[in-house]
Amino acid sequence: MTLTIKQIPCLSDNYGYLVHDPKSGETISIDSPDANAILEALKTEGWALTQIWNTHHHFDHAGGNAQLVRETGCAVIAPAGEKGMIPGADRYVGGGDTVSLGAYMARVVDTPGHTLGHICYVFDAQHIVFVGDTVFSMGCGRVFEGTPAQMWDSLTALMALPDETMLYPAHEYTADNARFALTIEPDNADLLARVEAVAALRAAGRPTVPVSLALEKKTNPFLRAGGADAFARIRRQKDTF
Ligand code: ZN
Ligand code: FE
Repeated sequence: MTLTIKQIPCLSDNYGYLVHDPKSGETISIDSPDANAILEALKTEGWALTQIWNTHHHFDHAGGNAQLVRETGCAVIAPAGEKGMIPGADRYVGGGDTVSLGAYMARVVDTPGHTLGHICYVFDAQHIVFVGDTVFSMGCGRVFEGTPAQMWDSLTALMALPDETMLYPAHEYTADNARFALTIEPDNADLLARVEAVAALRAAGRPTVPVSLALEKKTNPFLRAGGADAFARIRRQKDTF
């Protein structure tokens, strides 16, 4: 038996993720975009929520914390760089820390840029990373609090993971991102193929994520920028796209 991940569409375009360990019976929620949707999914699966792992403080990521804590008594793990900004936080973690789900371990990676304290959770042995609003399929988070150079370093850290790693982003922005990516690399054959695959998935009402790091390296204009300056330029273009 291995980890079971349930993907939950929340709000207009967020994804909540429940990660369940059948052996220990523990279940974590990556962020808390919509407490009611998460509680409903827990009920459907017959799972009890034991922890929330927050990636950053934005309302569509930590806004359901208070209700989930109230209704399930779960613990809340929050980014050390966002003390005081995450409702119900019990423990603060940062780069190099590990968190556990039953016998499974995840490593915390600091990914400042979108927010200053943003963190990602990497299950190294399972090749899974929950990237919050740092990377999206063919896109990346807006640089709200940090600098483009910081965001580039954060993306670089994630790109150092093995190619088979599956990225689990917090939003379904893929189709929009694809339109922008095509303006940067109109002749990229991998990108053209991915755009078609994404259109088919969306037409069928299916999610386009998770997605492999290998595929993102071939199609994501932000990961393909090659350096902080080029990244900053592409990010600025996207902000007004
Ligand atoms: Zn955010
Ligand atoms: Fe978000």
